[in-house]
Amino acid sequence: MTIEPINNWARKIRKKQIEKEKSKQINQPISSWKDEILINGETFDSLTIILRTKGCRWAKKGGCSMCGYFHDATPSVDQKNIINQFNEVLNNYEFEDEFYVKIFTSGSFLDNKEISKKTRNKIIHKLNQRQNFRGLSIETRPEFVERKKLSNIREKINELIIGIGLESASDEIREECINKGFSFDEYKSSLLTSLENDVEVKTYLLLKPPFLSEKDSIKDSIKSAKKASKLGSSKISINPCNIQRGTIVEELYEQNEYSPPWLWSLIRVLRQTTKLDTDIITDPVAAGKERGIHNCQRCDERILKKIKKFTKTQEPRELEVDYCGCKEEWKKILEKENRSHNITTSINCV
Ligand code: SF4
Ligand SMILES: [Zn+2]
Repeated sequence: MTIEPINNWARKIRKKQIEKEKSKQINQPISSWKDEILINGETFDSLTIILRTKGCRWAKKGGCSMCGYFHDATPSVDQKNIINQFNEVLNNYEFEDEFYVKIFTSGSFLDNKEISKKTRNKIIHKLNQRQNFRGLSIETRPEFVERKKLSNIREKINELIIGIGLESASDEIREECINKGFSFDEYKSSLLTSLENDVEVKTYLLLKPPFLSEKDSIKDSIKSAKKASKLGSSKISINPCNIQRGTIVEELYEQNEYSPPWLWSLIRVLRQTTKLDTDIITDPVAAGKERGIHNCQRCDERILKKIKKFTKTQEPRELEVDYCGCKEEWKKILEKENRSHNITTSINCV
């Protein structure tokens, strides 16, 4: 037998196996855990639930260059399965004090095709039955933020926080480097609609998208944070890019054309944004690892500890980190980029 038919056969078996596994899991959320949330300078207990859904609509069209969430998408999940997942998690956690719930879907909580209005209402009803439940935090693309949807949720829930992945305030960077598929104006309009409905907005910014130099990405994140804060985003989360499976970022990384950002870059962004009238937070994925934000192995851990403390306390002094020799290497990279930046164009996007 030649290799190709064997490959086809093996692929078919693997596909069947994956589908079988996924169908077993449709009543199980992707993940859930207890953590904390910072609200107006105060830390509360929170429950994070990642629901398994059909996945992000934009990802099906191609999606964002760094996003590997499509691995979590399960086409066979229906609304009943989502309710089962939610109930299973909520019944397993107890909270003595006031608590928040963060629901993520690897897509958009406000997309009716992902989570129907009926399902949203059932989830909210269930949450309201829990003593000490204080507020809900969700994520969505801006096109699904509608006045009516928000007022419907706000009638039942006291505090609602919506997370929107703006990534960059520059339309050029968002489109050409990230392939985000919406404009700054669309973000702005969803933010204003949220504020009109007394809904808080948390804005996610991507530190170091592909096709952008380290130095330009630092500048872009600082500029974007200032713009989002000025509009009224009460929280800004700086998300350093990491290398997820099956993404454009991974392909570039494998061709030595992309490397994750340095922790020194994150420290610089945080330092330059502490004066904003907004909580600046960060919870880097794969931090200190090769595929995530890192410096040298000697200083990663202690810098990450400081960053974690800063996120919790918002105290700028937590960003005063001890010197490490690798800072010189980082500085050299920025200087080198600066020289080529002067010769070429303002943005290194394709
Ligand atoms: S980053 Fe968000 S909008 Fe982009 S593909 Fe992933 S889930 Fe969809
Ligand atoms: Zn170091």
